[in-house]
Amino acid sequence: MTASRPLPVIGLPTLEIASAEDKPVRLGINRAYVKALEAAGAAPLLIPLLDDAELLRAIYARLDGLVFPGGEDVAPREYGEEPIPKVNTVDPLRDRVELALARWSLRDDLPTLGICRGQQLLNVASGGTLYQDLRYQGATSVDHSRRDGRPRDELVHPVRLDPGSRLAQLIDATNLDVNSSHHQAIKDVAPLFRVTGRSPDGVIEAIESTDRRFLIAVQWHPEELHLPWASRLFQSLVQAATRR
Ligand code: MN
Repeated sequence: MTASRPLPVIGLPTLEIASAEDKPVRLGINRAYVKALEAAGAAPLLIPLLDDAELLRAIYARLDGLVFPGGEDVAPREYGEEPIPKVNTVDPLRDRVELALARWSLRDDLPTLGICRGQQLLNVASGGTLYQDLRYQGATSVDHSRRDGRPRDELVHPVRLDPGSRLAQLIDATNLDVNSSHHQAIKDVAPLFRVTGRSPDGVIEAIESTDRRFLIAVQWHPEELHLPWASRLFQSLVQAATRR
């Protein structure tokens, strides 16, 4: 008899990759998310963009946790605003799929990690709003995007975490240097969440809900960082998602 190791299944919504040259339309997600979950001992499950909510629900029912990854902008109408000219591409199907998954997981207290767009998505799913473009709307003069083409893992600005936050306790750090690849961020925080981290210019970089099993989101990209505290974040999610 061998003792079975608990292996949580963590859902990872995909995005549509447009056809190019001789390639058809594909669905996928940056491999770094898969690698980070694999390294933390979880079985990542890539979730396709499905029109049919019942089919999506059938996949959701098998999950022990969720990671909402980075990507394009959430359509401003999802938080009650008209789009300004600075809004990038939006994908209505991806919004629909991820908002459905987010609302189910929030209701069920499924361990969930939001990353970049994922943080924004969780806030919108809970009734919060976003800056459609941080600099255009005057929220900061600092460029948090990667318009200059710098590497995805380059540490470009500090984040100060609330020492009392669950995030700071889990990763055992309060002052981080992080990568940054976003032009939007949270404007009004949904009541479900509290802000636990900001960059020096005041942009919201981390949120969490402490009365949940694991509901944490960050505006940077820990999946791209091969640092001990980044690994601890994924390990903490996987631990919370491991069925007892
Ligand atoms: Mn940033």
